[in-house]
Amino acid sequence: MTWTERQRAMLAEMGLRVWDAPAAGEPVAASPPPASIAEAQPTPRRVEAVAISVPPSSAVAAPAAITVAPSVVATMDWPALREAVASCTACSLHTGRRQTVFGVGHPQAHWMIVGEAPGEEEDRRGEPFVGRSGQLLDNMLRAIGLSRQAGDTPDPARQVFIANTLKCRPPGNRNPLPEELARCEGFLIRQIELVQPKIILAMGRFAVQSLLRSTAPIGQLRGRVHRYQGVPLVVTYHPAYLLRNLIEKARAWDDLCLALDAVEASAAHVARGA
Ligand code: SF4
Repeated sequence: MTWTERQRAMLAEMGLRVWDAPAAGEPVAASPPPASIAEAQPTPRRVEAVAISVPPSSAVAAPAAITVAPSVVATMDWPALREAVASCTACSLHTGRRQTVFGVGHPQAHWMIVGEAPGEEEDRRGEPFVGRSGQLLDNMLRAIGLSRQAGDTPDPARQVFIANTLKCRPPGNRNPLPEELARCEGFLIRQIELVQPKIILAMGRFAVQSLLRSTAPIGQLRGRVHRYQGVPLVVTYHPAYLLRNLIEKARAWDDLCLALDAVEASAAHVARGA
């Protein structure tokens, strides 16, 4: 593949210098033809607006009880939702948290990134995707002209909102439990409703399980455009995984390109219908 200067600059931002001159025999990411919206696979299961009332799947168990009624969460504005998360005790994770990690970014950002659960540094700072994985994510976003910093640009098309499926850190950074995901997902779904993104990037296994109700491996789900409540959704690897598997950065680059294509195709569709 021949890269334009702009693409080379983007790749450099992501630390993907292998693209300039891949060594013989070095694995090079295939760039599959971008999947169009028309080719998108149907969402395996439609998630209704009141997330906590969604019938349980094999991936997510139903909660026995919740602290805030789903119908109440579904009507919350940003301040009420933030307060509800901050005071939530719906699962046992509240006992070990320093603070909840609500999310960060432009409230009407066109891009929404959904990660998994706060780690130690996120728990300490109260912000998702900080530390090394956060730096990598910021580089990836910068590579396609996006930012989580509201001050960088007032244009919501260039802004992201970042949230996790869980708002509290699991002890020892263990994997989230199904009942924890189930009890917390109403908050995430209300965040998505409030942001109304043009594209969702689901990063990592648990984000995918929550949004697509699929336990399929990331490798099987990436490379095509899914739908979540009508919003195009692209599956990709979590930055923490990319730090441990550098070669997968190339596939993450493909995923970002696919998401860009989906946003542009969606905008073109709207323009034609206007
Ligand atoms: S992880 Fe979610 S459901 Fe559990 S206590 Fe924290 S905010 Fe509440």
